[in-house]
Parts: sequence; structure tokens; C-alpha cells
Amino acid sequence: MIHIRSKEEIELIRKSALTVTATLTQVANFLKPGITTLSIDKMAEAFIRDNGGVPSFKGYGPASLPFPASLCISVNEVVVHGFPSNYELKDGDIISVDCGVYMNGYHGDHAYTFAIGEVKPEVLKLMRITKEALMNAVYQARENNRVGDISFAVEDLTGRQNGYGVVRELVGHGVGKKLHEDPQVPNYGRRGDGKRLKQGMVLAIEPMINLGTKDVLTLEDGWTVVTADGKPSVHYEHTTLVGKNRGEALSNFAPIEAAERANPELNTGHLVDLPVTA
Ligand code: MG
Ligand code: MG
Repeated sequence: MIHIRSKEEIELIRKSALTVTATLTQVANFLKPGITTLSIDKMAEAFIRDNGGVPSFKGYGPASLPFPASLCISVNEVVVHGFPSNYELKDGDIISVDCGVYMNGYHGDHAYTFAIGEVKPEVLKLMRITKEALMNAVYQARENNRVGDISFAVEDLTGRQNGYGVVRELVGHGVGKKLHEDPQVPNYGRRGDGKRLKQGMVLAIEPMINLGTKDVLTLEDGWTVVTADGKPSVHYEHTTLVGKNRGEALSNFAPIEAAERANPELNTGHLVDLPVTA
């Protein structure tokens, strides 16, 4: 069942989503070569709790295999669900940070890929195109469109026009009282296919796009998803409200990008002007 959220519920989801934005902004200020991904996770968890939230991901999943951290931190060839660790970031890495916050009974879910220092131009282009594809997909989240219109928007720019690998094993989702709700929102599909969208639905739209082929593997830890060819992968995600004429990102890239501009370690020049999200 796909929930239609009331105005009050939408504002609570927005609050959770913007707390994720604030957390990712802290991450953007914190990132530099030489720090461990575990230190990023510790900082972010403290920030979330100081702001009255609970990390949605910590302990998520089956009781036999709960996710061990507050953030999913996925470096280079890791697509999603990477564990924070003692790995030290280095110049030329890319790092995808996925964060969920639960507060007032609702989740926000939002992800961003950062470049550390000098990153290859082909990887910067992958980042730029994937962000643009996400914003195209957010735009499609409107009344009477279908899930396939969102999926098509992602696949068209990334897979068809640019030849990137569009990950199929993992998909976007409804988000609200639970972190993962109906419907599934794949990053591939056909216009006009799938469930019809209604104003007030809230969807986490999250392209996971590979520089090489679409094939991925899950490591023995049961969580970490990597590209089969070892090439880099990027991940951007917005908690998105289905609107009358267009979708609205309840999370927001702007503060993250402002922090990125102010942090010389992240000053890779890949930032682009995006369509207005609100
Ligand atoms: Mg996420
Ligand atoms: Mg998600």
C-alpha cells in the first residue's frame, strides 16, 4: 500500500529530511584526506542525536545481520551499504554517504557523493550526470505520472545517453513511518509503466550509477555492494514529495554544496547549477 501523507505528516518528513541535509553538510565540512570513514560516522551520529534524531540505519535489517553504523559510507567501487571503517580517505577518492534520520515518527533518507581532492574528469562527469538525472527524476514525481516516468528519467540520461551502468539490484522506495515503504522505485524502466502517482506520496529516489557495467556483487559481510568490474560508482538520493505539477525534494543539496565550496579539500570544481528543487 502506498501512503498519501497529510500536510502535517509532510512537514514532519521534511524536518527529518532536512536534518539529514544538515548532517551531510557537517560531513562536507569534515571531509579531508587522512581521516577514517569511522570518524565520519561517529561525528554524524553525535550530530543526529544532538539534534533530536535517531540514525535510521543503525541496527536496520535482519536481527542476525543488523547494519552496524549510522551512515552507509561507500568509497570508490563500493556502490552502497559500505561499513564505516579504519580506511583513511585519500586524494582522488570518491565517497558516497547515505544517511537516514528518524524523528517525530518519520524518516528522511538522503545521499550524496563527494570527491576528495583531484578526481579523474570521467568520474566528475559521472557525478554531475547522476545528480542531473536525479533532479530530472524528482521533476517527474507529479500527480498522474507513474513510477516508470521517474525510472525512465534516471535511466535515459545515465544509461542511454551516457552509457553508464544503471544498477538494478537496488531501488528507491516510499519513505515515511518506515524507512522502506511501497512502492519500489527502480532506476530503469519505461514511461507510463508502474503505479500511478498521487499528490502527497513521498518517495526516496536514489540513482546508483556505475562508470562501467551495471553488474554488482555483495561482499561476504552481507551488506557491502561493489561493482563487479571494480570501477567507481556514485549514489545521490532525495526524499521527494509527489506534487501537483512537479516533484519537490524535501531534502536539499544547496547547503551541502555550499559547505563543499567552502572546503578546499573538496574543491574539485564538479559542482553544477541544478534546477531549483523547492
Ligand atoms: Mg538512503
Ligand atoms: Mg533510500
